[in-house]
Amino acid sequence: MSRFWSPFVNDLVPYVPGEQPKLDNLIKLNTNENPYGPSPRVVEAIRAQLDDSLRLYPAPNADQLKDTIASYYGVTAAEVFVGNGSDEVLAHIFHALFQHGKPVLMPDISYSFYPVYCGLYGIEAQTLPLAEDFSIRPADYRGENGGIIFPNPNAPTGMLMPLAGIEQILQANPDSVVVVDEAYIDFGGETAIALVNRYPNLLVTQTLSKSRSLAGLRVGLAVGHADLIEALERVKNSFNSYPLDRLAIVGAVAAFEDQAYFQQTCQAVINSRDALSQGLQERGFQVLPSAANFVLARHGERDADELAAGLRAQKVIVRHFRAPRIEQFLRITVGTPEQNQALLRALDALL
Ligand code: PMP
Repeated sequence: MSRFWSPFVNDLVPYVPGEQPKLDNLIKLNTNENPYGPSPRVVEAIRAQLDDSLRLYPAPNADQLKDTIASYYGVTAAEVFVGNGSDEVLAHIFHALFQHGKPVLMPDISYSFYPVYCGLYGIEAQTLPLAEDFSIRPADYRGENGGIIFPNPNAPTGMLMPLAGIEQILQANPDSVVVVDEAYIDFGGETAIALVNRYPNLLVTQTLSKSRSLAGLRVGLAVGHADLIEALERVKNSFNSYPLDRLAIVGAVAAFEDQAYFQQTCQAVINSRDALSQGLQERGFQVLPSAANFVLARHGERDADELAAGLRAQKVIVRHFRAPRIEQFLRITVGTPEQNQALLRALDALL
């Protein structure tokens, strides 16, 4: 604390991201990055942009990218918002669309950035417990609220809610903005974007950090009714009128254009996830059913803290959330088949 701080800074509890250690010989399975690199066409497009044009500001509306996303999802560009990673898109959503004076509803085991945004913008967060099997119960999301948000698949459980559950929540809350955070949707879920034209209160967010392997480029997006998007644009333009830099715009466009690479790498991650889940189960782990590029797994007899430390000593890094109900679980990012084998071997040395 400093006497120079604005008073609100004293009360902020910021998000703590997963660690990003130097890679030398580490098997890094702690922050849900894609083990396969981005499309070669993305790298080419960014290289081609490295010229004198960098002296110019980027397009203030990232129109080229919005058009690309709009035609990819069959919506209009006025229904698309883009930002520096979905974290920034989410920050604008909490700021522009969630109401003060009523609680924002979210699952109690969920993306831990949500309560941080609530703290930043002075919004009340109300967490709703997951069911016994760790699924989100759509019927709980009702009553007066200032907005609703949940990831689908949920993080860090990896569990998917079918579109029928999302519709149930939308129908029960016609006066609230319902945000579906689809950071991991491409690894086996069905996007809710198709529902946007039937529900003006639905906003779907996605990221290029996971399925398109561009966490380092920082590109996220939201799709929803033009009215919701206009609110986000107003807030964004009151903060920073350039949503993305020139390299991010051309790289993200190229990522959406290389559909074949996207499908091939997503399928490789899905296959690798299923093999990893099986390998863990064979070693006595309970693995929650995952539709994401990570699994949440608990060993029946061994302490999660000890396992995480034992893996780390063998240069394999996984994430351990010391949160209620999941304190005995490890969240393991799906790696390549070779990385998964190395993880399983490291576990064999511990079990
Ligand atoms: N939502 C969820 C559920 C996430 O797990 C993450 C990644 N930590 C994000 C959003 C943000 O991803 P990014 O800012 O890289 O788009």
